[in-house]
Amino acid sequence: MPSESDPIFLRRETQLLRGPFEVPPQFSSLSEAVHRASTVTFDDLDAFASRRERFLNGYTYGLAGTPTHYALAARLAALEGAAHVALAPSGLAAIHLVNQALLAPGDHVLFSDSVYGPTRSNAKEILARSGIEVEFYDPLIGSRIGTLLRPTTRLVWCESPGSLTMEVQDVPGIVDACRPRGVRVALDNTWASPLGFRAIDHGVDLSVQALTKHVAGHSDLLLGSIATNDAELYGRLRNMANLMGANVSPDDCALAIRGMATLPVRLKAQSGTTLSVARWLRGRSQIDWLAYPPMPGDAGHALWTRDFLPCGALLSFTLRARTWNAVREFVDALRVFRIGASFGGVNSLVAAYRDVGERSHGGPACARHLIRLSIGLEHADDLIGDLSRALEAITIESEFTSSEIPHASQ
Ligand SMILES: *Cc1c(COP(=O)(O)O)cnc(C)c1O
Repeated sequence: MPSESDPIFLRRETQLLRGPFEVPPQFSSLSEAVHRASTVTFDDLDAFASRRERFLNGYTYGLAGTPTHYALAARLAALEGAAHVALAPSGLAAIHLVNQALLAPGDHVLFSDSVYGPTRSNAKEILARSGIEVEFYDPLIGSRIGTLLRPTTRLVWCESPGSLTMEVQDVPGIVDACRPRGVRVALDNTWASPLGFRAIDHGVDLSVQALTKHVAGHSDLLLGSIATNDAELYGRLRNMANLMGANVSPDDCALAIRGMATLPVRLKAQSGTTLSVARWLRGRSQIDWLAYPPMPGDAGHALWTRDFLPCGALLSFTLRARTWNAVREFVDALRVFRIGASFGGVNSLVAAYRDVGERSHGGPACARHLIRLSIGLEHADDLIGDLSRALEAITIESEFTSSEIPHASQ
């Protein structure tokens, strides 16, 4: 700030531009400061000229990180139990970043057949076009993944549970098969979050989260993260994010930090309600198939109890009336659940899919007319009451008359 003792006389216009804006040493609060910056300033030319040396842990340019970015990365590293965390503008951008940082033309990459639809589209439309060989494997393959590894295999992607069809993968088995062959394993851990699955402890090389979901928790921002213990991989990810110009807003980082404060209590409450809803739905005559791995009796429950801590706010089911008309009547009758994609927010959501998208290993039983519920923080009885009313709204006619328009949606 200019003062009387300032050796240079400055006019008012110039005074208005004076920085840097520093936090006064006497000031302290409980909230994370939002440091907005494209330009980062330097004390002298040597500091500017050597800025690249501080790229991984210092400040060079807004794109490469501000104190707010590093604060979020540090909290995520603590949550993941990982040494390093790189940030990305969205969950999908984090997945893309891993692919760009690790794969080159001629490489082979394996994806679980149950991956998030846009992950599959990204692989098919970007990786395959760049001369990278993309293969999809049976989500339940476990350690037999070893039979699919080639000398050119660089990366195996897991996603567990699958975000629509909820297959629980034997991630430790996959890690055990890949590690001796020098093949990296990346996991999209958005479903369970690191509170539900300790990906890094289970030997996963790259633990990816769409922070958009449980961490943000309020359906109002997009962010992604990649946690790893490998310093070299971390450097490659940060460098690639910079090359791609993949910017992360410090405002969104501050919101994600706020979300993290309540993540454990939200997840616990939402998981408890989800189990109540799943149990209630399973007892209804209108329900055919239902998947919620934390519920005893679920197809993935044995693996779930072996590897996961009790949590999860997402369930899928199909109606016995297997027509799109019945799905429409049911969904449109809901009043507490709002129609929308995504999950992990405080508001309960419903989404329905004519089909679960392309599969290379045969469609699962639930492939058509799948309904997915994301459970928020509403009272369980209000959600169950809403579902009960909506199930009653399905008319007898729609059980038999279908208006099928075959097309894939995701
Ligand atoms: C939502 C989601 C993503 C993508 O996250 P965005 O931030 O929306 O890009 C990736 N994987 C899974 C499993 C998701 O649910």
